[in-house]
Amino acid sequence: MATLTEEDGKWLLTCHIVASDYNWPFCEISINFFNEQEQPTGQGIDLSSFTSVYVKARYINQEHNSLRFQLRNFNPLYGQFDDQGTWKYVGIEFWPQRSPQANEIPLKSLQVASWWIAEQKLPIKYAVPEFTNVMMLELSTGNNIQPGQYVIELEHIKFTGKYFTNNQVLLFLISLWACSAVGFLFFNLSWSRKQLIETKSKAEELRQLNQLLNVKTKELKDQAERDPLTGALNRAGIKTIFTKELEVLSVMFIDIDYFKSVNDRYGHTVGDEVLKAFAKLISNNCRFTDFLARWGGEEFLLVCPNTSLKDAYDLAQALRNIISHHQWIQDIQLTASFGVAQQGDESPTAFIERADKALYDAKVRGRNQVVISEY
Ligand code: GH3
Ligand code: MG
Ligand code: MG
Repeated sequence: MATLTEEDGKWLLTCHIVASDYNWPFCEISINFFNEQEQPTGQGIDLSSFTSVYVKARYINQEHNSLRFQLRNFNPLYGQFDDQGTWKYVGIEFWPQRSPQANEIPLKSLQVASWWIAEQKLPIKYAVPEFTNVMMLELSTGNNIQPGQYVIELEHIKFTGKYFTNNQVLLFLISLWACSAVGFLFFNLSWSRKQLIETKSKAEELRQLNQLLNVKTKELKDQAERDPLTGALNRAGIKTIFTKELEVLSVMFIDIDYFKSVNDRYGHTVGDEVLKAFAKLISNNCRFTDFLARWGGEEFLLVCPNTSLKDAYDLAQALRNIISHHQWIQDIQLTASFGVAQQGDESPTAFIERADKALYDAKVRGRNQVVISEY
């Protein structure tokens, strides 16, 4: 026989344990977590995220007795909902007078009742505490209770725990790690892609720069080897021709007659124009294998590879004729003198000097003529 009353916000359970044939008499307060009214679903509450339960309860009269705290977990894998005896007994026995405040019971100290395992004949894997589907909470008198009257005072039962279960934290950490890994891979990929694009554009930039430098180099080479006014080679530019080993090589010096008077009469600018036109006229009327160089002032050197003295002479006469009949700007009348030579067994310097001497002779003999230097 038992009665439950409330007094000052505390529950008082008064029990009369009587001697009988039953070996394990008990008296208990049971709190159900499932709804008995509705259609039974087997749905209890999940207490697995809690770490401890504080039970503030005590005997008022029989202080040296124990209490039993127990949770009843239903698992359809081995239990039946309509048979409460198959709901797992997970509990602990404690002596409340040992801690008058509240008894902190770590959930991991709860154990599955061994008599229940034996009765259910369960496989070992089910013989462990479970709190994922708790149907009931029970607070009862302990083992070996003697017949008599007992008053149990229950002030509160509080569950405490972490916000997250270990599994949730683990899952969160794994997801975080996976997200970081994916994020890192993505970042790495886009970074590599960016690098590749940058490298490509750098390479393109360098290619363009290189092209520019090639053009510049060619320009500089031209500048070093060409006369800026007439575009003919200069002395440095013509030098390379003489280093080539040619079997027959002829040259001719061409000097405009009385060019000073052109400058004097028409001005230096007109003189420049005449010089340009003169170089162009010679270039257009010699062979494309010949090289024209401006030796100085109004004096040009035409180098004719693979050309005999006779052919060089004929070319000089032809050019002289063309010059004297050309229509020059401002109707200027222009003639030129020529000194022609073929290379013998001599140094380039001696060879050129001979041609220069022949030109001098042409001037002395009255200009507008071709003089040959015999070797
Ligand atoms: P000659 O028949 O004896 O060769 O008489 P010339 O007047 O042609 O010869 P000279 O050597 O006395 O004078 C050459 C002139 O050429 C002197 C200079 O004013 C002119 N001259 C030299 N270089 C240039 C140039 O780049 N531009 C111009 N406009 N005139 C030049
Ligand atoms: Mg002259
Ligand atoms: Mg001269």
